[in-house]
Amino acid sequence: MPQGALGVAMPGRNLIGMLPLNRYNGLGAAGETLIQELGHLLGPIHSDVRYDVMNGTAHGHWHDLTEIELTERDRQMLGWIYSQTDYYPFKK
Ligand SMILES: [Zn+2]
Repeated sequence: MPQGALGVAMPGRNLIGMLPLNRYNGLGAAGETLIQELGHLLGPIHSDVRYDVMNGTAHGHWHDLTEIELTERDRQMLGWIYSQTDYYPFKK
């Protein structure tokens, strides 16, 4: 894990790194971190918009697992990536 990171995604290896659960500020923060890392495996980098799950500092926004949801922008970013026809895969 990079120093200070809450999670890390390694798309080329299909791996996600997470801290021990008790190191997160509640289940919601751990859940949101995991969702963002899964998002990175699917392609998107960080969003600049605060409430997107893919925002780089988003992990403290929600305090309850049931309140975590993708924003419309998160969905649009994934939709855009997977509508591209000219791309380079993470691995061949
Ligand atoms: Zn991230």
